[in-house]
Amino acid sequence: MVAAAERVVVELREACAAPAARLNEVAAAMEAEMRAGLREEGGSKIKMIISHVENLPTGNEEGFFYALDLGGTNFRVLRVQLAGKEKPVAKRESKVSIPPRIMSGNASELFGFIASALASFVADEGRSNVFEDKQRELGFTFSFPVRKTSIASGTLSYWTKGFKIDDAVGKDVVAELQTAMEKHGVEMRVAALINDAVGTLAAGRYNDEDVVIGVILGTGSNAAYVEEASAIPKFEGELPKSGNTVINTEWGNFSSSCLPITEYDQALDKESLNPGEQIFEKMISGMYLGEIVRRVLLKIASQSTLFGEINQTKLETRDILGTDNISALHHDDTPDLRIVAEKLADNLKIKDTSLETRKMVVEICDIVTTRSARLAAAGIVGILRKIGRAVPGDQRRSVVAIDGSLFDHYAEFRQCLERTLVELLGEEASRSVAVKLTKDGSGLGAALIAAAHS
Ligand code: ADP
Repeated sequence: MVAAAERVVVELREACAAPAARLNEVAAAMEAEMRAGLREEGGSKIKMIISHVENLPTGNEEGFFYALDLGGTNFRVLRVQLAGKEKPVAKRESKVSIPPRIMSGNASELFGFIASALASFVADEGRSNVFEDKQRELGFTFSFPVRKTSIASGTLSYWTKGFKIDDAVGKDVVAELQTAMEKHGVEMRVAALINDAVGTLAAGRYNDEDVVIGVILGTGSNAAYVEEASAIPKFEGELPKSGNTVINTEWGNFSSSCLPITEYDQALDKESLNPGEQIFEKMISGMYLGEIVRRVLLKIASQSTLFGEINQTKLETRDILGTDNISALHHDDTPDLRIVAEKLADNLKIKDTSLETRKMVVEICDIVTTRSARLAAAGIVGILRKIGRAVPGDQRRSVVAIDGSLFDHYAEFRQCLERTLVELLGEEASRSVAVKLTKDGSGLGAALIAAAHS
């Protein structure tokens, strides 16, 4: 029986293996897909959306700006006060979790919910006269794939990360928001529509002019970077004055035959809200890692008695294990893995595990998370190579701004990602690359981009 469990783990380790050679293939495939996506609309599974963000903040911006941030488990409203170079950003923020009925309801409910949160935020500000003569500007971070037509408009292509509001697909989300804001009596101009990856890039850039890539590793995963407009064959109209534009890669939808896909990924994908889509994201982001681990544990339970009777446990309950739990299991440094024992008992109703079994559970977390972090690193290397950074002859410093709880709170994940970057880029080239945690860049970035374009 133990042998059966061990076999599952050995097979998992083999199927998840991501040695450097394979990661270099992943990076090359990512780069090739990026080029294909830039060539023409629909040229690749990754959309390579032209964000029309042509000016990133410089740090000199001043004034009050608002932002809305929708894209994961929480929805945020914020107001920032910018006071120029080296001065701290004063922030006021409110966070609301999104009720599940809104996540799968209809468009007017969703935008009504957002506008009403904004209305109460503004009402709570009281009768400040800061804005009496000034148009209030708002940046909207909407972290789903959008077809962009200008800096402040875009139609939703499809939902990800557990959202499913069919009548919003194909609609201009800014127009929807603006209508809802009017209904709620909020007077503001939506100056920019961006997503969390673009926001993280902008927030990183505000503090460090060498930031060229923004990455999200949270509920979902995505990356944005600065591209030369002349390197975008599908770019229409006049080239921007800055010569650059930000590309929102939507790399979550990347998929390639070189990805180490397992039976667990396939089953997870098949039973997801968006089968066949977001394959890369489903292998690396916070919404899925815990669920992959659960599926492995369930297989072990079906082939051995290590976890007792399956129906006495919660192993058959989908999404019962969050990635925060995986992180807690993985970081347990008590000699007898006491935290693992407690988590297994509390979350999965698996009691009285032996030390060997607990070690096996930790190993499974390690395998799944290592694959995730290594793939994320390969994606970043793909982007760096696309823009000629950290390649032979390039002397520039390149900074990658990263946000999201997976990167922020999961130390094993973060260290593995950083080690893998060095492994893939080589010691020397990797010295010019820095990874910077850029917290709350998603919402802040929208306000900063609104400021940079106001
Ligand atoms: P979002 O991407 O939704 O804006 P976050 O960046 O907080 O928000 O990411 C949430 C995701 O991060 C969830 O999938 C959650 O399971 C995961 N997460 C939260 N805390 C941790 C943690 N300590 N370790 C690993 N993952 C975590």
